Amino acid sequence: MPDCLFCRIIAGEIPAAKLFEDEECVAIRDVNPMAPTHALVLPREHIESASALDERHEALAGHLVRVGARLARENGIAESGYRLVLNTNADAGQTVFHLHLHLLGGRPMEWPPG
Ligand code: 5GP
Ligand code: ZN
Repeated sequence: MPDCLFCRIIAGEIPAAKLFEDEECVAIRDVNPMAPTHALVLPREHIESASALDERHEALAGHLVRVGARLARENGIAESGYRLVLNTNADAGQTVFHLHLHLLGGRPMEWPPG
C-alpha cells in the first residue's frame, strides 16, 4: 500500500467521521467543508484518480455515484440539489491522489465552477 492519507483513513489508522461504509467504499465527512453538506466517497481500492479507472472499475465507479446520491437523500439535499465531483489532477485542484467523489450541497452553487 502506498503512503496514502485516504488508505490510512480507510484502514482506521487516522480518524474520520464515517457516514457510510460497505465492501467497496467508505464515505466520510470532509474535514474542511466547502458546503453545509460535504462528504467524500472513497473506494477501498487505492486508485489514484478518475484517469486510473479501467474497465475493471466500471461497476465500482457506478457504485460510488449511487452511494453519493444515497447520502444526498439521507442528508436532505436530494430535492434542493447537489454536486458529485471528481477533481482530477492539477488544474482541477486534486490534492489527495486516492480517488474520491465529493458530495456537495445545502447551498446554491455557481456554474461554471471557479
Ligand atoms: P481534492 O482537492 O483532492 O479533490 O480533495 C481532497 C479533500 O480531502 C479536500 O476537500 C480536503 O478538505 C479533504 N481532506 C484532506 N485531508 C483530510 C483528512 O485528513 N480528513 C478528511 N475527512 N478530509 C480530508
Ligand atoms: Zn490510497
